[in-house]
Amino acid sequence: MAQLGGTPVLIMREGTERQRGRDAMSNNIAAAIVIAEAVRTSLGPMGMDKMLVDQFGDVVITNDGATILKEIDVQHPAAKMMVEVAKTQDSEVGDGTTTSVILAGELLKRAKKLIEQKIHPTVITEGFRKAADKAVEILDGMSIKSGIDDEKGLLDSAMTCMSSKIVSESKEKLAKICMDAIKAVAEKNEDGKWLADIEKVQIQKKAGESIDDTSLIQGIILDKEVVSPGMPKFVKDAKILLLQSAIEIQKTEFDTKLQITRPEQIQEFLDEEEKMIRTMVEKIVKSGAKVVICQKGIDDLAQHFLSKADIMVVRRVKKSDIEKLSKATGGMIYTNLDDITEDKLGWAGLVEERKIMNDSWIFIEECKDPKSVVILIRGGTDLVVDEVDRAIHDGLCVVRDVVEDEKLVGGGGAPEVETAIQLRKYASSLGGREQLAVEVFADSLDIIPKTLAENAGLDQIDTLMKLRAAHQQGNKFAGTNLDNGDVINDMSSVGVVEPTVVKVQAIKSSTEASSMILRIDDVIASAKSAMPPGMPPGGPGGMPPGMGGGGMGGMGGLPPGMM
Ligand code: ADP
Ligand code: MG
Repeated sequence: MAQLGGTPVLIMREGTERQRGRDAMSNNIAAAIVIAEAVRTSLGPMGMDKMLVDQFGDVVITNDGATILKEIDVQHPAAKMMVEVAKTQDSEVGDGTTTSVILAGELLKRAKKLIEQKIHPTVITEGFRKAADKAVEILDGMSIKSGIDDEKGLLDSAMTCMSSKIVSESKEKLAKICMDAIKAVAEKNEDGKWLADIEKVQIQKKAGESIDDTSLIQGIILDKEVVSPGMPKFVKDAKILLLQSAIEIQKTEFDTKLQITRPEQIQEFLDEEEKMIRTMVEKIVKSGAKVVICQKGIDDLAQHFLSKADIMVVRRVKKSDIEKLSKATGGMIYTNLDDITEDKLGWAGLVEERKIMNDSWIFIEECKDPKSVVILIRGGTDLVVDEVDRAIHDGLCVVRDVVEDEKLVGGGGAPEVETAIQLRKYASSLGGREQLAVEVFADSLDIIPKTLAENAGLDQIDTLMKLRAAHQQGNKFAGTNLDNGDVINDMSSVGVVEPTVVKVQAIKSSTEASSMILRIDDVIASAKSAMPPGMPPGGPGGMPPGMGGGGMGGMGGLPPGMM
């Protein structure tokens, strides 16, 4: 609201909530820290799990930072930005979500102290940016080489990533599955660089049996069954016909009346229909196909004839699955039975219907294209299966990261401590206020080894001191082995390693988010549209909690005269 000769001039819509300067900033920082605190206890292999219950009562039990933040319904705009940090981290590299959020929280906490010392936010964010650039350089410099041929490196990084999950007891088996899957889909591009697209790894889930029964299958799984019990359930060396059209007589679009004058005419009519179906089936038999996978329906009579010809038929398969099958088996997708030629049929070493719990699924294995792989996830209950799914997703991402980036660092707080030490040296070369910001950045990194220690019941300060001493002596991978609480000089010797890109991305996304929050000095929240009667003031759609006493929602309840 501005003043013009004593008359108030309304610039923003009535009810707009506004917070400025220090208030806006400390409010935003406070909200962001709350989010960081929420995930703090889940960091590392000794971290605790969270049970999240949504408004429908559905339960998720997880330890995954990104999932925790995805499930909790955050209202505050700055808190939402922290949730974005986890999302970015997850989509870019697939791991390190908790780390990045904790780091962003710590950066903000410490930046607040600098602001209180009258250092301008822009100076701080500039210092943070410099520190982040330098940190990336340091991380790259301390990395060891790995890549698709370094099986130990791939397995270790997948296991490290899964050791912090509920499924950690099966991490060896799951890590091997992740590695094999990524190796199967990895491809070299023209520049000789390895690329692996995790989307190419199909995932199927089914509760039952145990986590250790999770398996990697070379091929494709369809959650369908063979149409008729008389058909074979097991075909080896299978020629496969992929069909997009139905095997039935096309119905006309409009009703037709048939005048029957003699009883034999009905029979003739039926005979004619049978003949047409028989011709269709004969075309299939002649093509040499032993398996038919059809996107549409199949006439009962056709099923009968196909079954007699010992052909396995699966119907109503999703278009996307037919397309995948076409790639995997090298078969053409047909729409017209007249066009089929034997050489364009697909091929797989084995097509089999198997019972998984109460359902029958079709397994198409040993396909022509070895790049088609499926991970069939098993586990005691749906909750377990879902958590295995998340762990496998992270494992696949981590293996991909190493395959593509070919760099590893030791874990257990090692990269953070090393980067902090080198950053402090760099800071002293800068001088001035920026030096302060870079130092604060370095101090913030210590939150990771500290939190890892805290969550394992170790003394934070004691651990940090031991770590620093080890690093000062030149052990760049000195970290805390949380399996026994010891500080050891080389985390890679106990197989605790992480992809460098995960650490690099955590630095980048946390710096970006904290800088963005630090640069805000004005929060203007427009009035939300009127809420239905009966809603509590400040309820859904109201101002985010924590934003200035009740906010707009509360004002909605005032009588008109008071505005
Ligand atoms: P994030 O979501 O950030 O990946 P996690 O809960 O997965 O968080 O924890 C990752 C951290 O745990 C990393 O810093 C990693 O080095 C550390 N870590 C994992 N396993 C071990 C271990 N056995 N000993 C020490 N640190 C470990
Ligand atoms: Mg992790």
